[in-house]
Amino acid sequence: MSQTTEQLYKSDIGDILENSLNGKRPNPEECLRLLKSDDVYLMGLVSGHLTKKQFGKKASFVNNIILNYTNVCITDCKFCAFYRSPGADDSYTLTLDQIEARVKSAWDLFKIRQVLIQGGHNPNLKIEYYEDAFKMIREKFPMVGVHALSTSEIDMIARVEKSSTKEILSRLKDSGLQSIPGAGAEILVDSVKDVISPKKISSNDWIRIMNEAHSLGIPGSATMMYGHVENNQDIVDHFFKITKLQENTKGFMAFIPWNFEPNNTQMKEEGIVEHGSGGIQLLKMIAISRLVLDGLIPHIQSSWLTNGVGMAQLALQYGADDFGGTLIGEEVVSCTGARSTELTGKVIVDAIHQIGYQVEERDNFYNPVSLL
Ligand code: SF4
Repeated sequence: MSQTTEQLYKSDIGDILENSLNGKRPNPEECLRLLKSDDVYLMGLVSGHLTKKQFGKKASFVNNIILNYTNVCITDCKFCAFYRSPGADDSYTLTLDQIEARVKSAWDLFKIRQVLIQGGHNPNLKIEYYEDAFKMIREKFPMVGVHALSTSEIDMIARVEKSSTKEILSRLKDSGLQSIPGAGAEILVDSVKDVISPKKISSNDWIRIMNEAHSLGIPGSATMMYGHVENNQDIVDHFFKITKLQENTKGFMAFIPWNFEPNNTQMKEEGIVEHGSGGIQLLKMIAISRLVLDGLIPHIQSSWLTNGVGMAQLALQYGADDFGGTLIGEEVVSCTGARSTELTGKVIVDAIHQIGYQVEERDNFYNPVSLL
């Protein structure tokens, strides 16, 4: 008997992991057992094996920038260190010319393949602001994909325009929106949202708007922000709301678990959360994400932004197959002081090569651009 097989038989999650090796994903009750288990190394052996079976020793990444187009926001999430109230001295909103200048310089310097556009819930911005930006990017930089606006930003635009979210999505798609990021999900359980972001859209609304996007042919990613007031059962509920939608729509291209960073947030000030959840929890979340979503959501992203390049290398061994983006220009996590570093494609390529993997640069839709 190999040492790993022996470990599997001895572990209290051995039955779940054996099922995973045989192509059977954990059910909610088994997912809860995984979350309660300390056998992170064994989870990682199996999730890493499943990942290598699909992707070999290869990891992808995208050269991208983040355009945080405005920090004006009326939603006041307690976990956010980025937003400013309307009229605040240090509030800003980028003009169309500023957006063009940033995309142009990133294209010239890095040949980016994606611009990730996210900002506050700014009640002063009409839909034409977004339409003009998306059209300009797609017309002037046709190689750059537009991955933009969380479901809650879509909801804000619908409220400003007194229109439906589906109509807003349809107009934005016509002007160049290609996919939407999973932000705003946090944990898809309303008792959690009531504590950390009481003014934000409900879990059902997040699912409904994602469903509308998928039905219009706009794919996206799903995220999970853990490490605050949620419990293990909330995480299970989050996973299985995502899997249920994915089984119906197949619209999620990737899943990104990332940990809450408390510095400079109201939640830290109020003593609700003292510190981030750390590296072991990250590896556990990456491993469980692969086990629960294997064969259902194609890609699991490492979470380098809050955990650093070294942890992202480990995440690639524990179930992630995609490093994520270079995220040049990111401002939201940076406001917590948690951003590990400013990454370029070269740093990511070197980090992936260091662990003996090949690197695939990809585009917005996970199509290969080059193999390095
Ligand atoms: S997370 Fe987004 S919606 Fe919440 S306060 Fe920050 S900018 Fe506003």
